Amino acid sequence: MWNPIRQFIDRHDAFVVTSHINPDGDAIGSEMGLTHFLRQIGKKVVVMNSTETPEVLRFLAAEDEIRVYGEPGTQPLLDTVDACIIVDVNNWEQLGNIGRGLQARSLPRACIDHHQGYTAGFADYTVTDTSAAATGVLIYELIRAHEAKLTKEMAEALYAAVITDTGTFRFSNTDARALRVAADLVDAGVVPTEMHRKVFGSKSWGAGRLLGPVLSTLESDMGGKLAIFSATLEMVNNAGATYDDMDGFVDLVRAIKGVELVIFFKETEEGDIKVSLRSNGRVDAHAIAKQFGGGGHTMASGMRVPGPMPLAVDTVVSICRNLSSFPIL
Ligand code: 5GP
Ligand code: MN
Repeated sequence: MWNPIRQFIDRHDAFVVTSHINPDGDAIGSEMGLTHFLRQIGKKVVVMNSTETPEVLRFLAAEDEIRVYGEPGTQPLLDTVDACIIVDVNNWEQLGNIGRGLQARSLPRACIDHHQGYTAGFADYTVTDTSAAATGVLIYELIRAHEAKLTKEMAEALYAAVITDTGTFRFSNTDARALRVAADLVDAGVVPTEMHRKVFGSKSWGAGRLLGPVLSTLESDMGGKLAIFSATLEMVNNAGATYDDMDGFVDLVRAIKGVELVIFFKETEEGDIKVSLRSNGRVDAHAIAKQFGGGGHTMASGMRVPGPMPLAVDTVVSICRNLSSFPIL
């Protein structure tokens, strides 16, 4: 599986490593695990994303290591690389602005990802494995296929990736493969409780203040099978919070007994609404997201829909009420 990517890596000297907009622990963890590996085998690496690294994930990289495309100095930096590796994303829209920078330079591209719906032509060399719990699992396997030394800093980055996408081994994508990877990462120096505290237990006071207003919007529909809640920009601003502070809210609602599908609406600065869908096993969330031009995984997907909030809620909920038309694959 890894030979084409291996040869791609061997053929180039300097890489830009990138991932999706609003990067999460799997995006940043996969990028940093891959970056440490590439440097270990003598490659030069620039890490650059379209949007900023959330505060809680900054411990995974040195200060200013992860650049934001478009900020001063980033264009010349892109001119210093001869190839690109894209992780944890499989389409131009989710890759964001940096996609234009890659295309303008015609940089050869490799993609390592685990989402549904790979976009044809997105990269020249691709490993796409939707059965991998996290892209971090794939990066681990790439490193092992090279017989490279798994250092503690690589292990921490990859562990952050795995616990993010498996909800610390709770979600339905948790499998023996992910647990074996995690065990090996612990052997390489990861302290699970410390990593959990850093990734999930480092919330801001803004996040704490935002929880009440957002959860107070919670509504039950379809006799409790649908759970719907929303966050307006006003709530976020009044709490002194940021968009990233809402990470994890959707999982609180997902834990309610009888809920089959959670729909979380978040108003964005741009005025449209970001929707997070979470299924508890019976509904294909990816099929719903796809209807709205979004994507993701069978149990966790997302999309953007036009505002204002009441219109977005009406439009999406009326489609989702027809749950039986979105059976699990
Ligand atoms: P979240 O709800 O945490 O933002 O996203 C859940 C999953 O859905 C992630 O795997 C994410 O990549 C995917 N996703 C979220 N929003 C979009 C979107 O607008 N387009 C696509 N293609 N995928 C999305
Ligand atoms: Mn992922």
